[in-house]
This record gives sequence, structure tokens and C-alpha cells, in this order.
Amino acid sequence: MKLIDGKAIAERINEQTQEKIVRLRQRGITPGLAVVLVGDNPASIAYVRNKDKTSQKLGIFSRKIELPTATSHADLLKIVGDLNADPAIHGILVQSPLPSHITEAKIVMAINPAKDVDGLHPMNVGKLAMGDPTALVPCTPLGCQRLLLESGIETTGAHVVIIGRSMLVGKPLGLLLMRKGKGGDATVTIAHSRSRNLADISRTADILVAAIGKAEFVRGDFVKEGSVVIDVGINRVEDPTSAKGYRIAGDVAFEETAAKTRAITPVPGGVGPMTVAMLMVNTVTACENQMGLAI
Ligand code: NAP
Repeated sequence: MKLIDGKAIAERINEQTQEKIVRLRQRGITPGLAVVLVGDNPASIAYVRNKDKTSQKLGIFSRKIELPTATSHADLLKIVGDLNADPAIHGILVQSPLPSHITEAKIVMAINPAKDVDGLHPMNVGKLAMGDPTALVPCTPLGCQRLLLESGIETTGAHVVIIGRSMLVGKPLGLLLMRKGKGGDATVTIAHSRSRNLADISRTADILVAAIGKAEFVRGDFVKEGSVVIDVGINRVEDPTSAKGYRIAGDVAFEETAAKTRAITPVPGGVGPMTVAMLMVNTVTACENQMGLAI
């Protein structure tokens, strides 16, 4: 069994991104990323802090906008509009989840698709579905695909089962992996909470992706001998023995499954760091596109 070291792969990708940023800055261009956080969700605060820190480390101009939970729809739309118009900002990410009085889809729709580094605007979703290579693709699916590529795991002709059909992970990952060409050409099955015989379906996978949001949901009997398992899940599980009172668990019961697999991602240290690395990649890509550059 090979442990897919997402942290090390993400570091390598960040180094490549940093080199690109150095070249852009030599031409007087600094990629800019704005991350908007509404409210005080502890996980979101940690994600935003991490994104901001990595941006700064790589030389991206980072603007972190923190807003109270009570922020109105209109005020948030105004902030997005200002960021759309700001030439120093090439990428905009509004951290999900948003408070319940805000309609997330309306906010996503308001982001200029060229600056939509989260890849959630219908224009980018449509481009991805059409196989258009200029689509900005959501960072987590992009990170999962890149993990497979960097680990030498062939997707061509492979049966990939993805558990989870969210717009953020499952659906775009399915579209990515069935796209024609390198890192694609897979036969994709997407399962969800209404799927029958989930363990049976999962066992037919050469590559099994868990993006469910339920700690250790995927058990040993879901996994075929010699398959590859990508665990997207990040779940806080109560743990009185830990100083924080909780530990982070994936959607896969690692101990039961790992020994059966050819390769598996750990949690933490698998998909998580890749999501941030791909956000940096998307920001540089968006910047290059907006400046009419390809370097
Ligand atoms: P989500 O929007 O809640 O979607 C979860 C999906 O799992 C849904 O499609 C749901 O089915 C399905 N599901 C739920 N219970 C199920 C069950 N019992 N059997 C089969 N399918 C079931 O979550 P998400 O945003 O995609 O995130 C999924 C997980 O990935 C979460 O743990 C999240 O924290 C993590 N995540 C990690 C990263 C990272 O960087 N590593 C990034 C994003 C998300 P229905 O559609 O039928 O409800």
C-alpha cells in the first residue's frame, strides 16, 4: 500500500506556482486573491487563514475580508461588485457555507466568471461540462485529479466511483475525470444518499472517492483489493484525549481499508493541502488570462 502524500505533492506544486509568480512579478504583474469570510464558523476561519497565509508565502497579493454574520445580501453583493471592478484582484473566493439568510447561488452568480477561482459560476461549470479547457475548475476536484496524476495512477478506462454529488466536489470531479485526455477518460459512477447497494457499487471501483461529510463512513467492505482510495472528507470528531477536544477524521475508515488498497490518501495530509495549492494555481491562471498572458 502506498500512502499518497498530499502535503508533499502540494508543496511541490506551490514551488512551481511560486516560480510562475516570480516571473509575473518581474513583468510588473502581481496576482491578487480576495477571500471573503462571512460569520465565525471555526472551520471556515481556519480555511481562510490558511489560504491567506499560503497566498502571502507564494507572493500573491492577498486580501482577506472578514464580515459579521449579520452582513446583508445587498452588502455582500456590493463587496463582490467592488472586487469584480478592482484591477489588483484576479481571483475572488467567497468562503462557504454562508449564513442562512444569504442565497449562496446569487452570490456566486455575481462573481465575474473570469475571477471565479472556486469554479462555481455557471459559466465555469458549463465550460467544464463542455470539456472547454479554459474553465476555472473547483479546487478540491482539481486537487484530487492532480493527486492521481502525480502518483502515476492511470485514469484512462478506470472505473471511478465517487460517493457524493455536490457542486463543490462530486459533480465537478466526475466531469473532470470523464473529460477526454490525460487525467481523464475514466468511466465514472456518482453515488449519493439515495443510491442502493452502495458497498456493492463501491467495490466495483478501481478508484474510489469519498466526498460525503460523514466520518469513517466508507468501511473495509466498500473497497476492492488493489484499488485506489481518495478520501476528501474533513470531519471533526469529538475526542476528549486531544487537547482541542476533537480530531479530524476522513470519510474513510482508514485502518480497515488501507491494507486492501494499492494507494490511499490520509486525512489530514491528503486532499486538504491540494485544495489550497490548486486555489493558488487557479489564481495565477485567472491572472494570466485577465492579463492576456500565457507563460
Ligand atoms: P455535501 O455538499 O454535504 O455533499 C455530500 C454528499 O454526500 C451529497 O451528495 C450526499 O448525498 C452524499 N451523502 C451523504 N450521506 C450519504 C450516505 N449515507 N450515503 C451516500 N451518500 C451520502 O458535502 P461536500 O461539500 O461535497 O463535502 C464532502 C466532504 O468533503 C465533507 O467532509 C467536507 O468537509 C469535505 N471537503 C473537503 C475538502 C478538502 O479540501 N479536503 C474540500 C471540500 C469539502 P445527497 O446529495 O443525496 O444528499
